[in-house]
Amino acid sequence: MKILVINAGSSSCKYQLLEMDTQSLLCSGLVERIGARAGCLTHRTYRDGREEKIVREHPFPTHEESMEEVIALLADPEAGVIKNKNEIAAIGHRVVHGGEKIAEPVLVTRRVKDIIRECFMFSPLHNPANLTGIEVTEKLFPGVPNVAVFDTEFGMGIPEEAYMYALPYSLYEELGIRRYGFHGTSHKYIAHRTAEYLGKAPGELCSVTMHLGNGSSMTCVKNGGCFDTSMGLTPLEGLVMGTRCGSIDPAIVPFVMEKKGLSASEVDALMNKQSGLLGLCGHTDMRDVHSRIEAGDKRADLAFNMLVRSVKKILGSYLVLLEGKTDAVVFTAGIGENDSLLRAAVCEGMEAFGIKLDRTENSARKPGARTISTPDSKIPVLIIPTNEELQIALATKDLLEQSA
Ligand code: ADP
Repeated sequence: MKILVINAGSSSCKYQLLEMDTQSLLCSGLVERIGARAGCLTHRTYRDGREEKIVREHPFPTHEESMEEVIALLADPEAGVIKNKNEIAAIGHRVVHGGEKIAEPVLVTRRVKDIIRECFMFSPLHNPANLTGIEVTEKLFPGVPNVAVFDTEFGMGIPEEAYMYALPYSLYEELGIRRYGFHGTSHKYIAHRTAEYLGKAPGELCSVTMHLGNGSSMTCVKNGGCFDTSMGLTPLEGLVMGTRCGSIDPAIVPFVMEKKGLSASEVDALMNKQSGLLGLCGHTDMRDVHSRIEAGDKRADLAFNMLVRSVKKILGSYLVLLEGKTDAVVFTAGIGENDSLLRAAVCEGMEAFGIKLDRTENSARKPGARTISTPDSKIPVLIIPTNEELQIALATKDLLEQSA
């Protein structure tokens, strides 16, 4: 069974084609700068342990035209991996926000699309693009089921005292203002993989997952479910991120609007796109931040230390919420999986809390899931690579089998 996974952004589209019988990746790709004058499609095919890359640089006026070219590449007589698009059994879409109405993966229907549309107000950049991705595949793959998998899925399981904000209750009732949480696909996948790695029943796992990438979030997992999560109504809350400020005093928002004469959408853009590591030191990528630190850049040093502190503060609070029953703390995503300096800084001084990092293991570059704490660390520290596309494909396959 072959499943296509689509992650459509406003001007980009990421995709993967997976063979579910072997859970292997057949193709992956990214179309960038859709709608701009110079577009780029990078397509990778994986065959017999080898990777072949095709790059096409020309304008891609719309998502539909991009997808048509992707289909042609997938079914290319020489470079393709399928004979024709009918071999694709289903399409799984990443959708950022499902509001309170949908949390679990669902087969796309008109009602589901209406709900995705209703949630544009919570996710104005992502939900419209996600819906476009669905509409394009509905048109180009007639009769093939589309499944929506929501980023809010795992976080929706948190208890009321974790998802409510201490605002007038009517704001929750009227506008749905609450914590939803994001990166749910990754957090759910990591919770399952952590339980598997530790040989525990998934429903018994108590852990903390640190998903640290361009966007970063943490979850506190209690008895296999999400007990708390750092992102909120939108993916802006919580940790210091590449371009997002994370948690700040909310009074800063009206103050800046007034003093700088900014509109609500301008201050939203300032917090989402011009803040975080970028706002502090001019770089979003941790590798650049490290290079700048080595060159003696004090702002880069500050940005790194602020990110580490934001992770430690949430890690500490989740260890407390788990009341001494934490089975593991897990690093994942681009920074979590690759940045040994950040992992070392986060775990520094945590021995009294049961976390003792093995410096050699932490510095070693090895693939796959692994332990980077010492054998006497009360709480194992793990690196588990995330795989959001595989999780979306698995959810799509499950739903297809249930509805068969
Ligand atoms: P996204 O949130 O876009 O899915 P990723 O999880 O792929 O992001 O993480 C991307 C980030 O991971 C990069 O911006 C970079 O900061 C970081 N990163 C990737 N490789 C390394 C590395 N070797 N060392 C430090 N940071 C890295």
